[in-house]
Amino acid sequence: MHDTAYYLDLAARYLMPTYGERSMVLVRGEGARVWDADGREYLDFLAGIAVNSLGHCHPAVTAAIREQAGILMHCSNLYLIPQQAELARRLCEVSFASRCFFANSGAEVNEGAVKLARLYSRTKYGAGRHEIVTMRNSFHGRTMALITATGQEKVQKGFEPLLDGFRYAVFNDLDSVLGAMTPATCAVMVEPVQGEGGVTAATPEFLRGLREICTERDVLLIFDEIQCGMGRTGRLFAHEHYGVTPDLMTLAKALGNGFPVGALLAAENCAETFTPGSHGTTFGGNPVACAAALAVLDVMERDGLAARAECMGAYLRGALAQRLDGIDTIKGYRGLGLMLGIELAHPGAEAVKKCAARGLLINCTMGNVLRIVPPLVVTEAECDRAAEILAEVLAEEAQNFHAAAAAAQTNAGGGA
Ligand SMILES: *Cc1c(COP(=O)(O)O)cnc(C)c1O
Repeated sequence: MHDTAYYLDLAARYLMPTYGERSMVLVRGEGARVWDADGREYLDFLAGIAVNSLGHCHPAVTAAIREQAGILMHCSNLYLIPQQAELARRLCEVSFASRCFFANSGAEVNEGAVKLARLYSRTKYGAGRHEIVTMRNSFHGRTMALITATGQEKVQKGFEPLLDGFRYAVFNDLDSVLGAMTPATCAVMVEPVQGEGGVTAATPEFLRGLREICTERDVLLIFDEIQCGMGRTGRLFAHEHYGVTPDLMTLAKALGNGFPVGALLAAENCAETFTPGSHGTTFGGNPVACAAALAVLDVMERDGLAARAECMGAYLRGALAQRLDGIDTIKGYRGLGLMLGIELAHPGAEAVKKCAARGLLINCTMGNVLRIVPPLVVTEAECDRAAEILAEVLAEEAQNFHAAAAAAQTNAGGGA
């Protein structure tokens, strides 16, 4: 193992520069802690972007992957994969769903949802009913269909022409969705808690209203729970907070605790839309991925991690509220359970860097919302430590913000 500088040099020369400036090289993790190539330790409150929910290298998941990797790693979906059938049963048993399809990533299962919705409508109503309504500030993935579905210009720019058949509405605004729907609408796709869009939870009226409208028009309601699902919000699936079930749901991020796996779950009304040959994947749902996800579900159930996310989410909010009280550049807290956002009056990028320098990993969405998504196994002491670091950093940032504002005023005054 070389040091940080060595890998940064390789990356600068040989990797496509898709991820902007990076200065950290993480090489090892355990629970809520990670270490970089120079041996520095960090408290990981980003968890690989809401992926490592059981903590890094959870022994049960590592054991399942190791064991399955020595038995059968891949055989393609030309043959039935026992772990895949088991995982489908488990996911159906704990959800609204009747059937599952597995792929390797969030984008792939969202693609599956888009294709299924179009085929459902085509089979039932004929051609022309192919439009999907998605939300502004959503995030659904990086394929061509999904950058089109994603209601943010920054992911679309330069890749035009985008796909036909997507229309946008304002999140948490039912009238806006009604306005975007046409006789050609076959689905509405929404994250119950927007992740990249600033950690914003749907209102109950919004999700219930969507359910009613979609049922009335036989339009499929798709919940993208890739980030907010798998216990993070305090329920196994975020929509359980709302008493509303979708027709389709997608899962990925935390499903394999870091091993790539995604699932598309379908309710009975549309579960048999795909027929032999209509959709598929080479790697998707392979024995190792499914063994990892089965182990994740075991641990989540055994350790009651959804309930723990609710408790620790409340604890973390309390710890933050107490220590950040009086910092007037904090505009509010967002999210549910251990999916938390802190909205700032100023850009958050500098705060993210300063937190890392003090040993805390978080990130920032929408420019000014700090995203805090620690492993669900995080302890009270770890939450306290994170809150302390955030308090130091945000107090400093607030001071800088006010100093800059005062300087700007002085300059404006001097110029007048
Ligand atoms: C991360 C994410 C995706 C995309 O998942 P990938 O595995 O990166 O393709 C889609 N939807 C939401 C809500 C996400 O957070």
